[in-house]
Amino acid sequence: MTSLPTYLTAAKKGLENSHHRTYAEGIFEHYQRVLENTDSYFKFPELLKKRAAFSKYKAVNELEKYLVEFEFLFTRRGGRIIWAANHEEATKEIIRILRDKGIRKAVKSNSKTANEIKLNDGFENANIDCVETEFNAFHKQLQKQTPESTSFPILNADFAHISQDIQKTLNFDGKNVLQTIDYVKKYLINQCSQIRVGITGVNFLVSDIGGLVICENQGNIGMTTSFSDIHFALCGIEKMIPSLADLDKFLHLLATHTSNEMLPWNTQIITGPRQENEVDGPRELYLVLINNKRTEVMKQVKQREIFHCIHCGACTSVCPVYKLIGGEPYGGVYVGPVGSVVNPFMMDFYYAAHQSYACTLCKRCTEVCPMNIPIHELILQNRKESVKREFYVTIDKHRIKQLRKMMIKRAAMDAWYPNFMLKMNYKKLFGNQKIFPDLSQRSFNVRYREQNNIK
Ligand code: SF4
Repeated sequence: MTSLPTYLTAAKKGLENSHHRTYAEGIFEHYQRVLENTDSYFKFPELLKKRAAFSKYKAVNELEKYLVEFEFLFTRRGGRIIWAANHEEATKEIIRILRDKGIRKAVKSNSKTANEIKLNDGFENANIDCVETEFNAFHKQLQKQTPESTSFPILNADFAHISQDIQKTLNFDGKNVLQTIDYVKKYLINQCSQIRVGITGVNFLVSDIGGLVICENQGNIGMTTSFSDIHFALCGIEKMIPSLADLDKFLHLLATHTSNEMLPWNTQIITGPRQENEVDGPRELYLVLINNKRTEVMKQVKQREIFHCIHCGACTSVCPVYKLIGGEPYGGVYVGPVGSVVNPFMMDFYYAAHQSYACTLCKRCTEVCPMNIPIHELILQNRKESVKREFYVTIDKHRIKQLRKMMIKRAAMDAWYPNFMLKMNYKKLFGNQKIFPDLSQRSFNVRYREQNNIK
């Protein structure tokens, strides 16, 4: 959770963080190239986006119906669903199942949902070892740092440095980065084949086949799921799409907007645990379906459109605010434009409502969104909601009323020492980092009349 002072401190830290700035520059440059190309992959890109958006509109607006259909088909083939109202319930239930089976180790692919439910912390408290299988997350884990949940590829990473870290921690001599990658790959294959409990995120739930879709580019998720005897798939309830016939649109849009590819390198469609006539796949499959206040977002007629999001990361990569302050000020896994829309509802409203004010309304996020989500309008809608819920301090309310009176009647302003009074009362509202402009000596009205000889 973030409150305004925490947000401002974290934002200031982000502004001063040169590492983040270099990282963000890299993301911006990478995405600039990616986004220039996306439309050229398709004959009718706008039509594709409209169709995908319509499928998601149906799924989000009739979610109850699709969840029931999904549950019926998924459980019929032996999959089990854990309905989790919040992150504590999700983590508690996973740990309970592992404990009941006497399991103390798991492998995991890095995912936003796992970070959202704070799974690593839960495992640490329950003394369960969890090995990260995604390269960057694996390195962070070795360094005892929290893996970031990001849609971005590894950019600007100092691979030589990462390689040295890994060699030191795992105690082996490698001549170059490629040897380190090879060593890590073998190390993780070994871990996955021994541990046999895998945890992954999910990209889409497909209602009409009761299936999970998991996309990846590194190969670690395939390794996590194929060696596992028990697979836990973590997913927010909003990731539903109505039909398998819709899937190709989403895969194309996701891959083109994430990594400039036509399709993700590896896509798995999982419809249940291993069946009697099958030779591989997990024997037990648990889908942890997480609400965690998503229904609060769903209650907002306009803002629920944010759940059309496929988490490609395009909006965050072009947002000038994210570029400057980074992800920490958002106080959760949802950062950038999407975070500004969902956080007030998924966290406490009064702790996160200010996030929608940290936006220039430049509209870049809306322009690049492959799902045609009018993100900047949803941010604006959050501001309206803040006013409706009286998210301001009473003194500011009076100041704004007073300012309005002065602005519509120059004589009222001139009755005071306007520059002094304005600065004294409104400098803080205007923002301490900005220079408060001096008021012109004569009003626009007077100057206009003079210039145009109007008596
Ligand atoms: S409209 Fe706001 S959220 Fe969207 S890119 Fe611009 S500053 Fe970022």
